[in-house]
Amino acid sequence: VAGKVHRPFSIVGGDLHLLTGNCGKGQITNITKYEESGGYSMLRKALAQPPSAIVDEVKAAGLVGRGGAAFPTGAKWEAVAASNSPIRYVVCNADEAEPGTFKDRVVIEDDPHRVIEGLAICGYAVGAHQGYIYIRGEYTLQYWILNAAVDEARQAGVLGKNILGSDFDFDIEIRRGAGAYICGEETALFESIEGKRGFPRVKPPFPTTFGLFGKPTVINNVETLINIPLILQLGSAGYRQFGTEKSPGPKLFCISGDVVHPGLYEVPFGVTFRHLLYDLAGGMRPGSQFQAALFGGAAGAFAVEQNLDVRLTFEDLRAAGLPLGSGVITVFDQSRDLLDILLRLGHFFADESCGKCYPCQLGTQRQYEILQRLADGRALPGDKERLLDIGWTMTDASLCGLGQTAASAVLSAMRLWPELFEFPNAVSSIGEQA
Ligand code: SF4
Repeated sequence: VAGKVHRPFSIVGGDLHLLTGNCGKGQITNITKYEESGGYSMLRKALAQPPSAIVDEVKAAGLVGRGGAAFPTGAKWEAVAASNSPIRYVVCNADEAEPGTFKDRVVIEDDPHRVIEGLAICGYAVGAHQGYIYIRGEYTLQYWILNAAVDEARQAGVLGKNILGSDFDFDIEIRRGAGAYICGEETALFESIEGKRGFPRVKPPFPTTFGLFGKPTVINNVETLINIPLILQLGSAGYRQFGTEKSPGPKLFCISGDVVHPGLYEVPFGVTFRHLLYDLAGGMRPGSQFQAALFGGAAGAFAVEQNLDVRLTFEDLRAAGLPLGSGVITVFDQSRDLLDILLRLGHFFADESCGKCYPCQLGTQRQYEILQRLADGRALPGDKERLLDIGWTMTDASLCGLGQTAASAVLSAMRLWPELFEFPNAVSSIGEQA
């Protein structure tokens, strides 16, 4: 796996390079280069402090999860650190399957040791001696890159017994997914590591008390973990100089679609969408005009022209009714057929629903069927109401986040473009279509 990384996009940019300093250079960072750039010095620093000091620093930094759920990272760590269980686990969620998201992939490809360092610090802070990295099944090259980095780290004494000469043992095992989007959901991911079918569990109990193998577990996304060495390097006050009071720190955004420079951009929380789209991603492709952008991936919501000046923070986006999700934005120009986009999203969810609970199992199928009828001009009377009813039912009654957000984009489109869902010439029955 040595040498150059090939990917269909080449841009790693932005206003900051705190998390992506080693990314976008066309080379994988090996352990020597990583250490030359200061790598693993924050793990050494952490090992010289009591674990509780690390947890306090992460809490003070205000870091929240970057995988989409935005849960306070320090609170998770504190709960596991306070557990009475002698066995605890830390898990890195690298099952990056949200359509349009590729930030974890770039980090793993270009700078795998940063992920290992973040996970090892997490393990030390919460008293876990075993870490897992669960990587998306389709990420074959990235799996081998990570595998080689873990081997390098073991040989260098960064992983294994008495890491870096301390009295702390910590090792990492990498597990691969098998192509199921649902395995990015934390409890389905645990089931998958345990060798079972990737079905989400009913919560509570939450992972901090009953996680992997029934033990207290911290699970953090790749991007969340690579913030940890940065927090220790800058200190919580230094870290908070970036971003806003309620959304501190840097953030990675994946922007793609009809823009001049699709890619991965690192910015401080608080820049506007307009800045990301026009100043960093080069604006719309020549000859095209902005129509809409899907924030948050398949489970997201649409932004329109009036949202261009929204600040990219948790609080501003929430106020605008837009999800930050994992930081994915897909831009569509005026030529894109919105019903066709919704149809693709509907197909995605109907395909990826795990089938464990009925609101989602049946709802995603029925939603897709109605979207198909709408896209084909074969709408039935009441299809608009049925779509709303299915959407609200899935949102309210589904067991996990997949079903709870499977109608988000559709409901958002129905609010923004109600005319798309009006069909004065709807046929009165399926029989009439024949
Ligand atoms: Fe499975 Fe969907 Fe229910 Fe989640 S909401 S448990 S994906 S059927």
